[in-house]
Amino acid sequence: MASPGQKVVLITGCSSGIGLRMAVMLAKDEQKRYHVIATMRDLKRKDKLVEAAGDTYGKTLSLAVLDVCSDESVKQCINSIKDRHVDVLINNAGIGLVGPVESIPIEEMKKVFETNFFGVIRMIKEVMPDMKKRRGGHIIVVSSVMGLQGVVFNDVYAASKFAMEGFCECLAVQLLKFNVTLSLIEPGPVHTEFEVKMIQEVRQRECPGADPETVHYFKDIYLPSSLDIFEALGQTPDDIAKCTKKVIEASRPRFRNLTNRLYTPIVAMKYADETGGLSVHTFYHMLFNMGTLMHISVTAMKYLTCGCLRSRTVSPN
Ligand code: NAD
Repeated sequence: MASPGQKVVLITGCSSGIGLRMAVMLAKDEQKRYHVIATMRDLKRKDKLVEAAGDTYGKTLSLAVLDVCSDESVKQCINSIKDRHVDVLINNAGIGLVGPVESIPIEEMKKVFETNFFGVIRMIKEVMPDMKKRRGGHIIVVSSVMGLQGVVFNDVYAASKFAMEGFCECLAVQLLKFNVTLSLIEPGPVHTEFEVKMIQEVRQRECPGADPETVHYFKDIYLPSSLDIFEALGQTPDDIAKCTKKVIEASRPRFRNLTNRLYTPIVAMKYADETGGLSVHTFYHMLFNMGTLMHISVTAMKYLTCGCLRSRTVSPN
């Protein structure tokens, strides 16, 4: 249970990746300012988190079951918290989906929206009314650079994050009237199970329904480029956790928080040309005409920077 003066922070999807590191970093806060409720669908997957939490487990960190896709699970979890009091809600749980649209069943696409979009809304609907009543609270949504700029073959994942961005743009204005803050965290590539799962799954996939030319562009051109980019520019889950902690601790938290400054020009390019042509054609040339050049430059960048590029990219401020 939280001690007086401690902020209650509830995080979704803490069994791995970014959520796990966020939970540990906040629970290990030197001034013990947070009581973290780290949630996951299945407590059988708690071991990695418990090990990383060390002696904070049972003190500044507790565990709870929560499936963002289930009304009942969300309700039960929030009802189990003393006075249903959550100061900071971090919506981190999410799933990825990549591949030619023709080869993805609609049911799989719906699962992405059920988790990445409706899952977040389900959480917000349960926690927000109490925050509004108390005239205080902070809702954080882990979006993505792909919530601002689409990336080829990530059509449905990007759409789910775009949907979230639009939802949050609307809600942030209303919440300001109730002294409740809403912040988006927008990471670029991050090395987590997310990426590993995606690559394993994609390599095995037959892509039924997609023509051989499209499958070739996806597997032989897109996938290697994407791996290069993850290798060279990918941040660590700790980078994202650090950025999120800064957002929680800021006196006036920003609404948008790109964690990787290297992506700022990509987003700027989109808004620099209202016809959208600049972005579409730049991405086209990068993928189809400059594939080899991109591989060479990204590899060179990786060796030249020896990883320091990655550590320099933790934004904001
Ligand atoms: P991850 O797969 O390690 O973590 C996602 C977590 O969400 C997992 O622990 C998973 O079990 C959990 N989850 C999935 N469905 C759930 C559900 N229905 N209920 C509760 N938990 C559920 O991947 P990650 O990279 O740590 O992803 C965390 C967030 O970061 C996601 O929202 C993702 O979209 C976002 N993101 C990731 C990257 C990246 O490159 N890894 C980049 C940008 C944004």
